[in-house]
Amino acid sequence: MTARIRTDLDAIPAYVPGRNFPGAIKLASNETTQGPLPGVREKIAESVSTVNRYPDIRATALVDAVAAHVKVGPANVAVGNGSVALCQEVVQIMCSPGDEVVYAWRSFEAYPIIARVAGATPVEVPLNEDHVHDLDAMLAAITERTRVVFVCNPNNPSGTVVARSALERFLDAVPAHVLVVLDEAYFEYARENPEGEYTDGVELARDRRNVLVLRTFSKAYGLAGLRVGYAIGDPAVITAMSKVRIAFAVSSVAQQAALASLEAKDELLARTDTLVAERERIRSALIELGYDVAHSEANFVFLPLGTLSGPYTEAAAEAGILLRAYGNDGVRITIGDPHENDTFLKYAATAAH
Ligand code: PMP
Repeated sequence: MTARIRTDLDAIPAYVPGRNFPGAIKLASNETTQGPLPGVREKIAESVSTVNRYPDIRATALVDAVAAHVKVGPANVAVGNGSVALCQEVVQIMCSPGDEVVYAWRSFEAYPIIARVAGATPVEVPLNEDHVHDLDAMLAAITERTRVVFVCNPNNPSGTVVARSALERFLDAVPAHVLVVLDEAYFEYARENPEGEYTDGVELARDRRNVLVLRTFSKAYGLAGLRVGYAIGDPAVITAMSKVRIAFAVSSVAQQAALASLEAKDELLARTDTLVAERERIRSALIELGYDVAHSEANFVFLPLGTLSGPYTEAAAEAGILLRAYGNDGVRITIGDPHENDTFLKYAATAAH
């Protein structure tokens, strides 16, 4: 007889990663195409010689470096095993069974899984017709049971952002006991909107104790395989998160690589300018081809293809290009290297859409 596993887990899907096969053009996982910078590689190689020792459980040097980077105190910073682990910690410290977690849909696939594993109730608020968070509807969805609201900005998979002024109004209206998590995994790819507005969650969190910002070393900093993310927020929230964190969650190699990446941030962030230019090129080309393309401030674009999403993605895979379909909502395409994007554009020109 199998051990008696929680039966409610039967209804919870496992997280589905982007597909992969040898030789494929992989535009399915929002990864950076370039490997680590030489200096970061060296640090990784050096740190391997001490892996017989446990890492610094508090990741002191990395916490201090992140704090200096975003101009907050070290007590405002937590680092975790990727920002997805920090999402889980947040729900664990905030929610008891039956409490509600509000987020937009579609958004990051991990939110419903994390909420349900904690026994919390997911409350999904549809994106508006421009695939942007409907902050008024999200505000209206907050009840006495709401403990956490995730705002994914830029949103995965639509790529859209909420304007700073709208977000500020929303944050001012959310009850102070509800924690708003600004998931900024793609922050480094966002640029000013036409009104000159730019949304930096850390600035919004400075004088709001119920706002927590999540960022990651997995995207612009290119360390997805090493698993490091960070949270910025109220010291009481940061301390509570450390209580539920798996001990030694961030390996010594990951801590060293993240530190070295922060030191090389100018060079790494310069790469995002190249990506943004490429994103705009791809988006314009797709619009030219007659596609509806959501406005993206991330390292991917979203095509709301409805029921064509599945067949479109299947046919792309047969052509050696891996994309990510989201049910009957749309397809997300990560911006890759120019030659990879060109191969995708060739496919896009001929595929039914
Ligand atoms: N948040 C969002 C919105 C994401 O898209 C991702 C990665 N797909 C994450 C968090 C998690 O990233 P990581 O755990 O690698 O930091």
